[in-house]
Amino acid sequence: MPRKPPKLRACGFGSRGVYRGVTNDLLTDEHRLLRDTVLAFARTEFGPIADEIDRTDAFPSDLFTRLGELGILGVTVPPEYGGAGADLLSGVLVVEQLARVSGSIALSYAAHANLCVNNLYVNGTEEQRQQYLPGLCSGELVGALAITEPEAGSDAVGIKTKAVSDGDDYVLNGTKTFITNGSIADVIVLYARTDDKERTRGITTFIVETDLPGFSVSKKFDKFGHRGSPTAELSLDDCRVPRANVLGTVNQGVDVMMRGLDVERVFIAGEPLGIAEEALSLSVEYAKQREQFGQPIGDFQLIQAKLADMYTQIEAARALLYQTAAVAGERNVHKEAAAAILFTAEMATQVALDAMQIHGGYGYMNELPLGRLVRDAKLLEIGAGTSEIRRLIIARELLK
Ligand SMILES: Cc1cc2nc3c(=O)[nH]c(=O)nc-3n(C[C@H](O)[C@H](O)[C@H](O)COP(=O)(O)OP(=O)(O)OC[C@H]3O[C@@H](n4cnc5c(N)ncnc54)[C@H](O)[C@@H]3O)c2cc1C
Repeated sequence: MPRKPPKLRACGFGSRGVYRGVTNDLLTDEHRLLRDTVLAFARTEFGPIADEIDRTDAFPSDLFTRLGELGILGVTVPPEYGGAGADLLSGVLVVEQLARVSGSIALSYAAHANLCVNNLYVNGTEEQRQQYLPGLCSGELVGALAITEPEAGSDAVGIKTKAVSDGDDYVLNGTKTFITNGSIADVIVLYARTDDKERTRGITTFIVETDLPGFSVSKKFDKFGHRGSPTAELSLDDCRVPRANVLGTVNQGVDVMMRGLDVERVFIAGEPLGIAEEALSLSVEYAKQREQFGQPIGDFQLIQAKLADMYTQIEAARALLYQTAAVAGERNVHKEAAAAILFTAEMATQVALDAMQIHGGYGYMNELPLGRLVRDAKLLEIGAGTSEIRRLIIARELLK
């Protein structure tokens, strides 16, 4: 008789699939309500299509409007601009819940809500905030952030895209690559060089509207994971951006970049945490269900050890991440933010691989989501700064 694929239901560690561990006590009632609401919404709305998004490499066209209706697109932006007015820890909780259901949605959400929207709020003038934030918070507009270039990845201040002042505009020429949401974005926070003689102090940040003449999407990437979340190469060919769209101060774009970096790392680290949590949750269910040698595989101590190690790694990552998020606004968390994303990302890849192992042959089949979790987890060791760069940041801070 052919073997049927197991019916898996991610259970979470407590009732209704919601996390109830010790760090639960760090959260306020508002945090818990937000977390539970987002998880329930994501399970209902996106759970049934998460594998299809991965297989077809496409999002539903109304994804951002649906996230906008939920009220999370401007999670850290005050209500007067259409946001939720919540704190960084709330942002982490949202990304974590989305990632439990779909890493692709979590990544595109983070690029929009943090890399673009939060940056625009923190660094924008009142006029810029009024002009862009309401549309970005409702989902009418999609946002992205573009730093990376073909020759400037880890060395972000090595960018070559040029912006030359001309009358009321800057004329931009260059290429940006690996940009999340790049092919669907309406508004991009984009970095360009405004002074060739200065390396660090010669960069300016611009708000680029993608319907401007001279802006085009030159390539859409086919990726190993995070399929559905669009990643694009963008070309700027004599693209005239109004001077009024400079974000922050001319030649001081590195300040904008640096102000955002710690918050970005913490916000995005919610994603590997969510992936790992889902991987463990599925594994616990499977270990109870699957029988070999006349007993559930969860009775075998080698499986139990794996589950225990996965749980311990997740809890350690969560404690570091939530604590860092909770104090990020009050003190410098340069080292802690890098440590939180470094540890959480590497932990998630290992936990997803262990989950695949626990599922045996079916873990390797695309009928189950284990392969997707492994593929999605791996990106978090590369995108938003690699593990190597995160280690360099931590070591530099320690040796100061
Ligand atoms: C799916 C995806 C989405 C992305 N989204 C965005 C986005 O929205 N916006 C954006 O601007 N960018 C985005 N990126 C780009 C991402 O930030 C870069 O890929 C990342 O910073 C690494 O740059 P790189 O790919 O050029 O690798 P490189 O910098 O060329 O690194 C290659 C290898 O060398 C190592 N290395 C480099 N320098 C050092 C060093 N000093 N010491 C030790 N090792 C080193 C790296 O760690 C890595 O292992 C995305 C990337 C991916 C894959």
